[in-house]
Amino acid sequence: MTPIPEKIAAAVGALESPASAWLYDPAAATARLAAVRAAMPEWTVLYAMKACANPAVLAAACAAADGVECASGGELAAARAAGARRLAFSGPAKTPADLAAAAASPVPLCVHAESIRELDLLAANGFTGPVALRVNRGRALPGTHQMTGAPTPFGMDEQAIAAAVARALDLGLDLAGFHLHAVSNCLDAAAYAAHVLDALSWSHQAAAGRFALRYVNVGGGLGADPRGPVLDLDALATKLGPAPARYRGAGVELVVEPGRYLAAAAGWYAAEVVDVKTVAGQAFAIVRGGTHHFRLPAAWGYAHPFTVVPGPRDAAVLADVEVRVCGELCTPRDVLNGGQRVAAIGVGDRLVFANAGAYGWEISHDRFLGHPGPDMVVID
Ligand SMILES: *Cc1c(COP(=O)(O)O)cnc(C)c1O
Repeated sequence: MTPIPEKIAAAVGALESPASAWLYDPAAATARLAAVRAAMPEWTVLYAMKACANPAVLAAACAAADGVECASGGELAAARAAGARRLAFSGPAKTPADLAAAAASPVPLCVHAESIRELDLLAANGFTGPVALRVNRGRALPGTHQMTGAPTPFGMDEQAIAAAVARALDLGLDLAGFHLHAVSNCLDAAAYAAHVLDALSWSHQAAAGRFALRYVNVGGGLGADPRGPVLDLDALATKLGPAPARYRGAGVELVVEPGRYLAAAAGWYAAEVVDVKTVAGQAFAIVRGGTHHFRLPAAWGYAHPFTVVPGPRDAAVLADVEVRVCGELCTPRDVLNGGQRVAAIGVGDRLVFANAGAYGWEISHDRFLGHPGPDMVVID
């Protein structure tokens, strides 16, 4: 179990009852960013904001990272408002209006083009910034979401790249290189390093004789599992060896765009127990809140570990049980943890779920049932 830092415990204790809240510590995201920079000194680091768009976390990332990777027109506007110095624009469903907004961006912006249609629309909108072609190639990597190595809607086939390069050049676009985002939550440093090195050599070959390669973006995917384990950055640095410095020295900008790795440790979800009971032999704790505030455990089908912060314990208390933690929704799928052993749990206790900051609130469906939303607390 991840111990709860003192400042988080204090903030949880200060919540109004019945508590349901997201708590964010932007400093935890910037600490993770510093670790990535130490392990990958040759790399430009963009924050993939879809992992966590909490304004305080986003502002901290804008200050500490080189820029922000966005996947929608709405994210572009939010990143600009938060002070991003530089933007990258990915995503497979860019509308003509999105691309027109990209062309008008007052902040330097690189478009990761997902199709020939996007190249045509960029030229039609007079886009003059750098363009990278998103490539769907390679074997699937270990992780929770495979973007490449299987039929997915992301990027262009390797076999279509020669034609896309020719089209971009014909249109007069500033073709800078390639974008090869491949996976999310990769915990295997050797496999991730192999992806990076393969992306570099493939890009070098794909550009040779056609255009001057000056940008290779290997995407995100640095693992930070919601149950705690993270990718070993030291092992990654060792496996990457001297190749990145060589490319950098040859004038190729190397870009990595982590979301999860930076955001996971920066967010805690806290929910107060409003009832405890035993049904058909199973102990239940029912909380104010649930998967409409924190959908990840339901989306992935895992039990998110939690810590019990004891309340007044003046009502029913279950002792030494394996308890199932459910939310306030009228569906049996509203489960944050299907069974965790606890010494005691009772009404008024607050359950704290650590490592929840990435894809936590952002992917949740809080309209369902019309309960009040969670409090949003920023720790400093
Ligand atoms: C989601 C996404 C990322 C971030 O992925 P993480 O697994 O959170 O690091 C980076 N780049 C692109 C294009 C993405 O869609």
